[in-house]
Amino acid sequence: MDALRQRSLHETAVEQFQQAAELIDMEDRYRQILSHPKNEVIVNFPVQMDDGSWTIFRGYRIQHNNILGPFKGGIRFHPDVDLDEVSALAAWMTFKCSLVGLPFGGAKGGVTIDPGRYSRSELQRIVRRFTHALGSNIGPDQDIPAPDVGTDSQMMDWLMDTFTNLAGPANRHSVKGVVTGKSLATGGCAGREEATGQGVLYVLRHWCGETNRRLDDLSLSIQGFGNVGGHFGRLAFESGCTIKVVGDHTGTVADPAGLDVPALWEWVRDHGGVAGFEERRSSVEPVSADEVFSADVDVVVPAALENQVTAERASMMKARLVVEAANGPTTSEAELILATKGVDIIPDILANAGGVIVSYCEWLQNKSAQIWSAESVDERLRTLLWEASDKVATAMEDFDCSRREAAYVVSLRRLEEVYARRDIFP
Ligand code: NAD
Repeated sequence: MDALRQRSLHETAVEQFQQAAELIDMEDRYRQILSHPKNEVIVNFPVQMDDGSWTIFRGYRIQHNNILGPFKGGIRFHPDVDLDEVSALAAWMTFKCSLVGLPFGGAKGGVTIDPGRYSRSELQRIVRRFTHALGSNIGPDQDIPAPDVGTDSQMMDWLMDTFTNLAGPANRHSVKGVVTGKSLATGGCAGREEATGQGVLYVLRHWCGETNRRLDDLSLSIQGFGNVGGHFGRLAFESGCTIKVVGDHTGTVADPAGLDVPALWEWVRDHGGVAGFEERRSSVEPVSADEVFSADVDVVVPAALENQVTAERASMMKARLVVEAANGPTTSEAELILATKGVDIIPDILANAGGVIVSYCEWLQNKSAQIWSAESVDERLRTLLWEASDKVATAMEDFDCSRREAAYVVSLRRLEEVYARRDIFP
């Protein structure tokens, strides 16, 4: 455990943008605004369990900033969800949407539960009651949730169904865009399921172009094999990368010659995690969770939770690049160590922006009652991430700074310009 790990996650988020704000000499009043969430909504709501008993759940929706457009951000179901975590995640959404040029602000929500402990019918009632409790704090032009850790497209469908029923018969179709990440059948977007993982691969491909490397020469380790890590791993494998180590909450498995990722994908679907995969392949070994970070690979991809790349793990890292598929995976102390070792970091606000880009595509389709092809969605995803990666690379040179600082420079400049032109009411 890091000695200085006590810094709150929201403090880390503020520290990250303040470093870049310093570089561009951003006006103090804008820094003050961006250091605090605009609205903090906390709801306690009762849900009936399958055995007839009642439980009170606590849910959060933190709306960080909406100068660029409606608040936007996922909903997390996890036992560690608290005000600090959700506030940090909401701030990162503001900076991410600004960086990739979307007309959205930043928000995040969550319920403090372990979803694995509840039946599907209980989860449905939790989602519906949470949606009801949030009421008019969310809406297609107000605040638009999406899936995150522990939530999926089925839950987004329940959220949309609850919200549209509450909107009344005349409005039920016009408010479908209250949430993104829905299933295709209920108004979701082609490619949304794998969008974040696909986006991670696009920014990695861009980095290969910048640094004159071949994608299919790279060896990787991945922490997290859920929506983001699983799809990324599958797509990276299809592109020729060698995935040597994969870890999740059930265990970590390694194959120095490269894991059979499609077989691992099937295993995780059938068994709920990577643990035990060695039973399927004799070349696979169970290893410690630290192996993801210490393995002899070119690239480490944290795709699980925050604060996973600790100072200790940074010290043991042999890779030359960390791609932050998860939000906030690197502690400030670890970042300093990686910098001294010359390890590059593609920051979360760029690396995992693919999810919100395709959410934007879903929202636009819902607004205009259109259905776009998978190809046109993918084209937008690739173009927006490519443009953002180009801008970040240019800012890195202009300011002689880290890739994270450069990403914040691009993001903050857009936010500052909008504030400067609109000025602050009244
Ligand atoms: P998920 O719930 O689908 O998967 C989470 C994965 O992390 C699982 O494989 C789980 O086993 C693993 N995990 C959990 N605790 C762990 C631990 N202690 N050690 C190792 N592994 C652990 O969640 P997801 O949607 O894939 O999200 C992963 C990360 O990506 C989060 O930081 C999330 O905020 C971020 N993200 C997700 C999206 C999206 O579209 N889903 C978009 C942008 C960013």
